[in-house]
Amino acid sequence: MIESPLLEKLTGYIGGRWTDSAQGNTFDVYNPATGEVIAKVPSMPAEDIEAAIAAGKSALKLTSPYSIETRRKWLEDIRDGLKDNREEIGRILCMEHGKPWKEAQGEVDYAAGFFDYCAKHIQALDAHTIPEKPKDCTWTVHYRPIGVAGLITPWNFPIGMIAKKLSAALAAGCPSVIKPASETPLTMIALFSLMDKLDLPDGMVNLVMGKASVIGKVLCESPDVPMLSFTGSTEVGRKLIVDTADQVKKLALELGGNAPYIVFEDADLDAAADNLIANKFRGGGQTCVCANRIFVHEKVADAFGEKLAERVNKMTVGDGMNEGVDIGPLVNKQGFDKVKRHLEDALDKGANLVAGKQPGELGDGLFFPPTVVLGVNREMCCYQEETFGPLVPMALFRTEEEVIEAGNDTEFGLASYVFTADPDRAQRVAAGLRFGHVGWNTGTGPTPEAPFGGMKASGIGREGGLEGLFEFVEPQTVPRGF
Ligand code: ADP
Repeated sequence: MIESPLLEKLTGYIGGRWTDSAQGNTFDVYNPATGEVIAKVPSMPAEDIEAAIAAGKSALKLTSPYSIETRRKWLEDIRDGLKDNREEIGRILCMEHGKPWKEAQGEVDYAAGFFDYCAKHIQALDAHTIPEKPKDCTWTVHYRPIGVAGLITPWNFPIGMIAKKLSAALAAGCPSVIKPASETPLTMIALFSLMDKLDLPDGMVNLVMGKASVIGKVLCESPDVPMLSFTGSTEVGRKLIVDTADQVKKLALELGGNAPYIVFEDADLDAAADNLIANKFRGGGQTCVCANRIFVHEKVADAFGEKLAERVNKMTVGDGMNEGVDIGPLVNKQGFDKVKRHLEDALDKGANLVAGKQPGELGDGLFFPPTVVLGVNREMCCYQEETFGPLVPMALFRTEEEVIEAGNDTEFGLASYVFTADPDRAQRVAAGLRFGHVGWNTGTGPTPEAPFGGMKASGIGREGGLEGLFEFVEPQTVPRGF
């Protein structure tokens, strides 16, 4: 069992108190590197979720709102708490998720960056008077907190994803009811241990854990939760849209991706390969911004494949707690089986293995070696679905028009990447790609300063940047007559 000063309590947190009325109903949390159960946490009943919403409601202040200074202080305190505890939170995150410890610590820094950004820019949420005087009145715009927000996060960034949502919710003055993924609740409990020591009003942050269907139902049906912010699969996102339609709730959704990574014949192939390694194998390939379809111009495909294989063959797969490990285990058996299925399907349908192992040589555990295949086409599962693992499928292309069309040949529109030395071509391709993020000669993902989110079935709304800061407020106009 995992031990940590940040995990002294292993329960939910409601109205400023550690709370557990699950009466011994628990679920297991595993270390995916060893398969061991490292903690048991409560599967909270619907009454607890309702109590968390009620606590949130009592912390919502409309007529005497929390001042900008107060909210800024909350954000700065959480940022500092994360920075001071980056190693320990990183260790917990590594143990329940599997990503390398250093990468996990980097995620804690990343999370702190969102609180920092919101603290620095919170003034943008202050009321302002419109300089023009439409209809002979003086018009003031206030940014009111939307109310109690349900924040639902996935397991692939156990601290990063909640940081994006919670920083903006707190900046707006919105209390929240937070549900972590069942694979990674411990990092969230650690965050609540930090927040428990801060001067946050009781009920401002509430933690609920357990069955997604139970928690989701209460959050969708409660009239006291006007907004849900969710990161996860498009399938669940669609369900939330349907289940909240009656109440017309505000939804912020960051859903699946199927990122194209386009390498033109004039690209710096070493830079394209280095960026692909960093992008594709972050979190073991289990992120929604990981390149999923690599389109390489036919003139450079062999050279690029060699560069990639050279790099991939040097990578180490293992327990993320061990020094020198580049790729940890996949988070669970379901994830492992999906990557294996995609590899088998691609090889069966004619792709060639450039680096990695044959499906029959994969061995025990959840460790999947970095694998590169060439000759992928749209009939294959790895082209159509998000693989969420360390499989690099390469397809060939000839023209710019063809590759823009191929890149867009998906219902998703989250992240995309284009490598070319020609700035005009980069601009044309970026404009043609229906993706919320287009990296030009970089595989970098979202940052706190820039708005990030999806087009098409990849979601609604943005996180990060000023756009993200405004997600949890309702603009209210107050015209004053003379
Ligand atoms: P992933 O593939 O990352 O597990 P999911 O969409 O299944 O993506 O899960 C993302 C988050 O949404 C997790 O916290 C999960 O428990 C939660 N979730 C799953 N189903 C529902 C639901 N019906 N209502 C609310 N939350 C849900």
